[in-house]
Amino acid sequence: MSDDTIFHKIINREIPADIVYESDSVIAFKDIAPMAPVHVLFVPKKSIATLNDAKAEDAALLGELMLAAVEYARREGMADNGYRVVMNCNADGGQTVYQLHLHLLGGTRLAGFGA
Ligand code: 5GP
Repeated sequence: MSDDTIFHKIINREIPADIVYESDSVIAFKDIAPMAPVHVLFVPKKSIATLNDAKAEDAALLGELMLAAVEYARREGMADNGYRVVMNCNADGGQTVYQLHLHLLGGTRLAGFGA
């Protein structure tokens, strides 16, 4: 399992990022190429390449990731109007960085997706 992605470099403060939240196990920072007025990535510090690699023992960590995103959405005043959370998995899912992460998108009316 790779532990030298660009997100590990952000976690280790080897490259800069606009960090908006951090706990012992999770870090969140603004996406460098935002797809919405608010676009924040929530990343576990534990190396997990894709959602496929998450184990039962990671359930609480995945929950923390989700709840940290909800809390940030609340703080940004997006809770009532709404927002989107997305986790891309592998190539067909559009994953480009192989350290698991949750996208939080909001601050505007997002276009629908899918069929
Ligand atoms: P994925 O396509 O893997 O689900 O999402 C990866 C995201 O990471 C993309 O939205 C991309 O813009 C973002 N990203 C890639 N490199 C960097 C970086 O160096 N810094 C930040 N803040 N975001 C990045």
